[in-house]
Amino acid sequence: MIVAHPNAIEDLAEFPDFASIQALPHFAGDVDPAAVSLVKPIGVYRFRDKVPCGLKSCHTPHLKGLVALTSHGTAVNIGNICGRNHFGEQFAVLLRMAVRYDQRRFQINKVRELKAVAGRYRIEMESLMQSPKGAAWCNRACRRLSDLLPSDALHALKEMARRGESSVYEEIHLTGEEAWLSRQLGTRSSQGFGSREAVRRNYKGQLVGIAVWNDDPGRSLYLLQEELESFLKVDPMNCKAKELRHAADFAATFESRLTKVREQVDAARRFFTPETFARLRYLSGITAGTRTLLESLDWDFAEGKPRKSRAA
Ligand SMILES: [Zn+2]
Repeated sequence: MIVAHPNAIEDLAEFPDFASIQALPHFAGDVDPAAVSLVKPIGVYRFRDKVPCGLKSCHTPHLKGLVALTSHGTAVNIGNICGRNHFGEQFAVLLRMAVRYDQRRFQINKVRELKAVAGRYRIEMESLMQSPKGAAWCNRACRRLSDLLPSDALHALKEMARRGESSVYEEIHLTGEEAWLSRQLGTRSSQGFGSREAVRRNYKGQLVGIAVWNDDPGRSLYLLQEELESFLKVDPMNCKAKELRHAADFAATFESRLTKVREQVDAARRFFTPETFARLRYLSGITAGTRTLLESLDWDFAEGKPRKSRAA
């Protein structure tokens, strides 16, 4: 049997429902598998409701299968399992070919869809990168603040971002008497009963936009722009299967990745505000020296960088 490469199939039909199979010219719903062989695939189907198999003496309802052209010139739908039972390897080869073709068509369509609107995305991404307080600004502001922060503060920020926490508390160390009183009153303390040093925590607010410490939007956007440029060089009709699959995966996830970048830029804009910066001093687990530094942090919020010290 000669088996065509899936690229060589000129076209496969798409079947939205069973009626579209029954509407095929030369459709036969009662084919005797002993009397015919299968010539080529016409299409694959997968429905939500079962449809009767087109083989005589079967007619079992199936969810998915192959529509094939028979040696009698008729078209018949055959369930995946009974196709193998009645036609063996002949059926398996045609089904594989059709499924691969179908997958390839799906991938090509995905790639074409994104290519058709890529020009618009290119402009939007460049604007998101370069606009005032855009991704490039976020990237610079994050790097400058990272350079400025002592490692314990930076670590605390990244840990909170990783855990999805944003609330900060002022920790007040209680004296022995206060701690005793606190226990008597049943006040909750973070150290629990029996500890030597009790701490009372006063809620001080949220480090809004802290998620920016999970992913730098400038870097994410730069990577996305680079990947889009390589994606645009792919010719879906003439590239290798692996390259096509990669391009289709990129097209399928592109929009959600861009949405994520937009959210990250938005997070950065909300993080780099006087309100959030005033709460940085309440980061948990930092040294007294770091706390003093955070209290005196003189940040230029319009520029996204530390202000030059006037004393210097
Ligand atoms: Zn069947």
